[in-house]
Amino acid sequence: MRVAMIGTGYVGLVSGACFADFGHEVTCVDKDAEKVETLKSGGIPIYEPGLDMLVARNAREGRLSFTQDLAEAVRSADAVFIAVGTPSRRGDGFADLSYVYAAAKEIAGVLDGYTVVVTKSTVPVGTGDEVERIIRETRADADFSVVSNPEFLREGAAIDDFKRPDRVVVGTDDDRARASMNELYRPLFLNETPIVFTSRRTSELIKYAANAFLAMKITFINEIADLCEKVGANVQEVAKGVGLDQRIGGKFLHAGPGYGGSCFPKDTLALTRTAQENDAPLRLIETVVEVNDARKRAMADKVIAACDGDVKGKTVAVLGVTFKPNTDDMRDAPSLEIIPALQRAGATVRAFDPAGTVEAEKLFDNVEFVSGPYFCAEGADVLVIITEWNEFRALDLKRLKSMMKAPVLVDLRNIYTLEEANNAGFAYTSVGRPNG
Ligand code: NAD
Repeated sequence: MRVAMIGTGYVGLVSGACFADFGHEVTCVDKDAEKVETLKSGGIPIYEPGLDMLVARNAREGRLSFTQDLAEAVRSADAVFIAVGTPSRRGDGFADLSYVYAAAKEIAGVLDGYTVVVTKSTVPVGTGDEVERIIRETRADADFSVVSNPEFLREGAAIDDFKRPDRVVVGTDDDRARASMNELYRPLFLNETPIVFTSRRTSELIKYAANAFLAMKITFINEIADLCEKVGANVQEVAKGVGLDQRIGGKFLHAGPGYGGSCFPKDTLALTRTAQENDAPLRLIETVVEVNDARKRAMADKVIAACDGDVKGKTVAVLGVTFKPNTDDMRDAPSLEIIPALQRAGATVRAFDPAGTVEAEKLFDNVEFVSGPYFCAEGADVLVIITEWNEFRALDLKRLKSMMKAPVLVDLRNIYTLEEANNAGFAYTSVGRPNG
């Protein structure tokens, strides 16, 4: 099939490249001239493991191309995906749908022949109805169906998630659209991936409900971690003991500095707004949002406490600033709260991140980014691990300690044990586990 992917960001580029790899002919469209030029010249504008090879192969074999010209891509497409951003609207936290609606209008103007218009962006219930209305209003004669097909991929493991998903969700009650969606995802059918066909509104809500549940699970274990600290229990062992119950499952039970990223914060907030607007408030999720916001701020206090209650004039070395490992994405990363709070308390901050530096440098003031963990630790009064990149899991702790001014390690991802840290001579603080 011929596919136009509108929006070539984390979701659009990965989805486009994977559809091309399934054998479809994909044109990725973006308004951002620099992004399109980078892609055309063989570069990749984001960091996502394996994406460079996938894009290069499919581009070389003629199934994947890039353009700023939406009209040309849409005119010849059988399926047009909307994969533009849906950030939080300033002020009220509702999803900002202006990019989606603008794309819908542009698409409407150039539709040619029967076309399935698919919202891949995460959009509140009822957005598909509005997209359909906009297209119909712009082009009364257009032959099209609007389908919801939310994306569940995780940054850092995006290609595998797209090609081997737990499920694909498709919201439509139109038989022609259903047939097109079946054809698009055919290779997954062959792999026996469950495809959940449902109504458009249900499909839209599935995405938010899934993200809200995962955010709730993280927040739950974070609060249990706080209790562990007070009562002398170990949250990792609690999580293991709880997670082995198959009704609960062990995933997303890792205590840490609070969830961040491009999805959970904005999606939990948008869901609570939709619920309030429809007079069915989700009090559980409202609390999750509040607890998580407070948690990120509390992490700076944890660092300060580890430094005998004062970081004034001290140097804090930070390892990892992206919201999770294997991405350069800084959106709503916990570091964005923690680092400025430490600076306000008088600390000088130096940081290292394996892939996030370019993005992070735009977002922080007065943070020195260095080229490796050992440079980062040199002369520091405390070392703080905010993101659990693999390369931070086996550092030479003794060497680190010998380079620092004071032997203080704050591990907000629990990647070391108290024993390992103590053996290297560190005073060690982690999350929900014994310190010492
Ligand atoms: P992104 O900001 O990385 O990419 C969006 C792209 O759309 C940008 O490059 C922007 O220039 C482009 N764009 C905006 N309007 C356009 C237009 N009219 N025509 C062409 N291009 C246009 O966003 P993302 O992280 O890829 O997220 C996209 C959607 O997918 C969001 O709704 C998000 O919630 C959802 N989602 C994201 C993830 C994730 O891990 N990032 C996972 C699942 C779902």
